[in-house]
Amino acid sequence: MAIPEKNMTGSRKVRNAALGIFSALVLILAPLPARAADGETAPARDAKQAIDEQYTAKIQKYTTAPFFTSPLVNYLPASNTVPTPEAVLGDIAGAPDVLPYAEDVYKYMRLLEKASPRVKVFSIGTTEEGREMIAVAVSSPENLKNLEENRARLTKLADPRTIKLDDAEADKLVAQAVPVYYITGTIHSPETGAPTALMELAYRLAVDESPYVREIRDGTITLITPVVEVDGRDRMVDIYRWHLAHPKDFYPPLIYWGKYVAHDNNRDAMGVTLKLTENVLNTYVGWKAQVLHDLHESVPYLYDNTVGDGPYNAWVDPILTDEWQMIGARNVADMTKFGMPGVFTHGDFDTWSPGYLMFIAAMHNGISRLYETFGNGGADTQERTLDPEEYARTWWRQNPPLPKALWSQRDNNNYEQTGLLTSLHYFNENKRLFLKNFYLKAKRSVMKPAAEGPAAYVLPADESRPGLQSELLRVLQKQAVEISRAKSAFTVSLPVKKEKPKKEAKDAKEADKEKKPEPTTRDFPSGSYIIRMDQPYARIADALLDHQYWSPDDPQKTPYDDTGWTFGELFGVQVARVTDLKVLDTPMEHVVNVHGPGGVKGDGTVFAINNNAEPALATLRYKMKDAAMEAAEEQFDSSGKKFTRGSLIIRNLTRTDLDRAAADLGLQVVALGAAPSVKTHPVRAARVAFVHTWLSTQTEGWWRLALDDLKVPYDYISTQKIAKIDDLNAKYDVILFPPVGYFPGPTAIISGMPAAWGNPLPWKNTPETPNLVGKNDSTDDMRPGLGWDGLAKLQAFVQKGGVLLTATDTSRFVTEIGLVTGVTAHTSEHMKIVGAVVGTRLVDGGSPIAYGYEEKVAAYCDNGPIFSLSSIAGARGRRRLGNESHTRPTGRGTADDPDFTVGRPTVEAPEEPTSEIWEAPPVTDEQRRNGFRVIPPANRARVIFRYADKKDLLISGLVEGGDEIAQHPAVVDVPAGKGHVVLFSINPVYRGETRGTYSIVLNTILNFDSLDAGRKLAEK
Ligand SMILES: [Zn+2]
Repeated sequence: MAIPEKNMTGSRKVRNAALGIFSALVLILAPLPARAADGETAPARDAKQAIDEQYTAKIQKYTTAPFFTSPLVNYLPASNTVPTPEAVLGDIAGAPDVLPYAEDVYKYMRLLEKASPRVKVFSIGTTEEGREMIAVAVSSPENLKNLEENRARLTKLADPRTIKLDDAEADKLVAQAVPVYYITGTIHSPETGAPTALMELAYRLAVDESPYVREIRDGTITLITPVVEVDGRDRMVDIYRWHLAHPKDFYPPLIYWGKYVAHDNNRDAMGVTLKLTENVLNTYVGWKAQVLHDLHESVPYLYDNTVGDGPYNAWVDPILTDEWQMIGARNVADMTKFGMPGVFTHGDFDTWSPGYLMFIAAMHNGISRLYETFGNGGADTQERTLDPEEYARTWWRQNPPLPKALWSQRDNNNYEQTGLLTSLHYFNENKRLFLKNFYLKAKRSVMKPAAEGPAAYVLPADESRPGLQSELLRVLQKQAVEISRAKSAFTVSLPVKKEKPKKEAKDAKEADKEKKPEPTTRDFPSGSYIIRMDQPYARIADALLDHQYWSPDDPQKTPYDDTGWTFGELFGVQVARVTDLKVLDTPMEHVVNVHGPGGVKGDGTVFAINNNAEPALATLRYKMKDAAMEAAEEQFDSSGKKFTRGSLIIRNLTRTDLDRAAADLGLQVVALGAAPSVKTHPVRAARVAFVHTWLSTQTEGWWRLALDDLKVPYDYISTQKIAKIDDLNAKYDVILFPPVGYFPGPTAIISGMPAAWGNPLPWKNTPETPNLVGKNDSTDDMRPGLGWDGLAKLQAFVQKGGVLLTATDTSRFVTEIGLVTGVTAHTSEHMKIVGAVVGTRLVDGGSPIAYGYEEKVAAYCDNGPIFSLSSIAGARGRRRLGNESHTRPTGRGTADDPDFTVGRPTVEAPEEPTSEIWEAPPVTDEQRRNGFRVIPPANRARVIFRYADKKDLLISGLVEGGDEIAQHPAVVDVPAGKGHVVLFSINPVYRGETRGTYSIVLNTILNFDSLDAGRKLAEK
């Protein structure tokens, strides 16, 4: 779904001679008869309707080969009243050099609305930067007049409980309802073709009188969001304008798309943290649409990747996977008949993760679809050369694309429109089947508890993290999942787990006993949240809350995206999967507003908040700037309550103010008669710098989003800026250097992009690029990196007492560049942890970094890096590669016996010092001889969390060869001079899905000047 980074600037004149062989396929403009011998409506224009000659001539001109078009789009019907896209673009859709801003696309859609009763434009929300998103409905005037009536019918089909699951009633509705086919364009900003293709598609659907298009218009509501990533679109158009104004220069790569993330905006359909996801989801669910068809560009020439490859997402209904096959196969066949090369389905995309935008439909009883068409990343016409694997003929791509071809934005628009029109026509022809399926999928969701189960998920009322629990429930509500709350306590029986028969069972009696474990039950208190599975959108709740298992033996060796995401685990809250149907009989009420209980209780002027690693504690710290806050370094009891280590003790604040803030944040505060006599240290609102590179901003974008959400302020600066700040310590207490997203090596972070040749790559607002910067960062030249001066500044910052926090690839950076001593970071050799949920274990609960955490913490891991510690400077840490084996030498006796030496009494060897894999091996006597390399105990790395043992490592997803990272450090605090570098191997802040580990980062920020609290030093 990414555009390969290829140079947009190229010749438009070169034509491939090899293309001549196809000239026999030239499509003729002459109309065909309306109904062909096969009984299908012919895909051809209406002979009686005039064509727009001038527009049609340009279509021919900009189409680079006669077979890159179809009888559906090789002409434009004329209209006396309805303006063509030319009215806004100044040229036709897909013309070279023309890339409209979202605003221009909307302007055109609104012109259409004004000129035609067949078009209606709806505003569906705004982006992070305040730009509008729209949905354009095109259908017959009658359908558009009866939208609400039709919506009422679709709503009943979407929620079969309203018709008591009555199939006969459903059939009546199916016979009357007009289905909705929702198309979304350009979520990925460098994939630029969709907006103009969709402008022209809207025109055709509104104007064309051919029977083929008329049938679509009269039978179906086509809903179009022409630009999904609106902020990114405007930046991309800026870049393209810059490129047109500086044709001989290299142009800046699109470093920012939306405000926060780039390509990952199409991985947000689980967490729903981005506005674009929320707006499309609300539109899809609100219209009760049957299809969500998302348009992308990267693969030549049209890859309908919906059919994809295994493994299929385990929670989708097989009715849907059948629909994928039906529509996909037919789509390929139709376009093949037009003589268009390179149209295929299947391919190598697996449909395991439900994070893609299109999957909103798959998880809400609709049909998800996705096109990859071919694009040049702009509107230049260019000769494109493919890789052999791209043009190879395979069983699933029998008519592959050409090895080399001149490709234009018009070609792209031809393919997109032809694919969509044939899809719409096929869908409309079979709409009764698809509407019935829509109902059946919803009905089968409602029947889920007794069918495949589970009956419900329960989030208990005695959750120790009510704030995170509420956050998880609110994500489910965004997904249109209904939440209920138990009005009384209840008990459910737990499924009896079948034990594997033990080989060593001594007699039949014992084996029998092992076969029948006692049935167990679980009690839940009144007020527990129940997510019933007998609701229409049960599937998305099930997919998010269940565990994932990706077998290492799966034939799919290259998972397309994350393999595990279990939300209860990553949010750090309890979620019980309940199969006992009795749970549904619990008296319960529907919950509209989920809000954790918060406010002040008790009497007194000193306040305490128990620390359970809830991110809202950081929000409170920054919100109440003047309050004195301290952290208890040990647990304590007060006013009959137990407080954990790290609990906040607050003074200097009126009860009213604190009560209001705590109620707002869902934090439970206890007023104490007197301050507890426990050792404390101050918890200050650290001044934070947030560092990004000009290489990639996507992965750090999720961190920015999380901090903004929590209202934790920071200065957003690039690696270039660091060298320019005189005294970093005077400005900042903590520097966050979140992951770059891929590890380009330490030299790339320092040097940046090549600057020895070429021109500067500015990222700043100019007359040609008014949208580039937004509220993010700017530079005159993106190419320079951190630089050696910047590196020295970072080092000085830490030495003078600052705290530097790094994760995944930036952790590798600080170890490889020598900012820390005693920690090495390795890449894996045989391990495969592909975006999975893994187990970690608390090693040093005394560290403020771990405040609020219990022994077991689930975390997101994507293959390391693998940390190893050493107490010897410059030594590489110990790693376990395969199973350890300590065998005695060949000699006398049995395996456990000591050897002997003939002719002298046995000398007892000193006992070998042992250590755990996450620890540095103990310093030996030999190493201490003139031991200038021995790191003094106070300077050694302190392990806060480690990865779990191999058998406990996998929680969700794919973990293969996990022994390589098992037990190794996961979060390490390394003293350096007067400061600290805190390194993460896990990624604690990711896609809004890992909120349970946010507090490891927030604890580091809030306790920046007391990180050594609770530290126990080694003796030697
Ligand atoms: Zn894409």
